[in-house]
Amino acid sequence: MAEATAELGHDPEKCEAVFRKDHAQTRKSLALPGCKPEEQEMPRYFCQDNPAVYELETTVLDADAGRILLEQSPFYPGGGGQLADRGRLVSSRGVLEVTDFEVTDRGIWHYVQGTVDLSANVLAQVDRSFRDLMCELHTVSHVVNALVFQGFEGALVTGVQMSGDGTFRMDFDLPGIDNDRLQQLEAPMNEAIKAGYPVRQLYLPFQQASAEPGLLRSKALTPPAQADGTVRIIEITGLDRQACGGTHLASTDQARAIRILKIENKGRHNRRLKVGLQGSE
Ligand SMILES: [Zn+2]
Repeated sequence: MAEATAELGHDPEKCEAVFRKDHAQTRKSLALPGCKPEEQEMPRYFCQDNPAVYELETTVLDADAGRILLEQSPFYPGGGGQLADRGRLVSSRGVLEVTDFEVTDRGIWHYVQGTVDLSANVLAQVDRSFRDLMCELHTVSHVVNALVFQGFEGALVTGVQMSGDGTFRMDFDLPGIDNDRLQQLEAPMNEAIKAGYPVRQLYLPFQQASAEPGLLRSKALTPPAQADGTVRIIEITGLDRQACGGTHLASTDQARAIRILKIENKGRHNRRLKVGLQGSE
């Protein structure tokens, strides 16, 4: 599967365009803080409630050229800077590698190479090591985000992109700051990771979430509201909470320590941090 490595620029229009492109992967429309929930709806993915379930036996609901709709899917289809899962569908006809996903009102379509017996159940298998890496990167990105948000008075994220090599980059709207101050956050970030803050999800009414400062922190990270009008919040209890649609670890100390590998100025406003997990550089 091709890894999304879209360039994120400092220009808000460009950022938005990249996010549209990112979300086009899931065929979902752009989520903007302030949009009425009824205008944008996000399906509740199985993996959001069950991030540690890597295998699921399920029923094929429909299939057409090269794609299969499952009754329930354990896969994360990508979005919000987190790469789509990798994995396979195991059926009586053999093993089909999943190459892409499409989210529709009916559920998640799985693009595969080959055919499957429609009468049979399939075993959907998520590539565990890749999912775990994404959960680790995603959790650590919240810690990085939290420390920058707190250290620089509400600095907003303008883009994020995780990578399969154990690194991620994050863009912040931080005009006129000394990059050394950003670099100095590496130690407190690692202390926060080591502290073992629990990570949990909750759902808040969209209007309530909109009213809490910092909860809908960026266009790039805020998922659309659910069908019931709530928005999913990821809370690192004692450290941070913000709207997010991805998968995460259960505790920050399940992640490795990080290094801030690079800080780049992207225009007058944007600072881009490249962050790597220990051992990934
Ligand atoms: Zn997240």
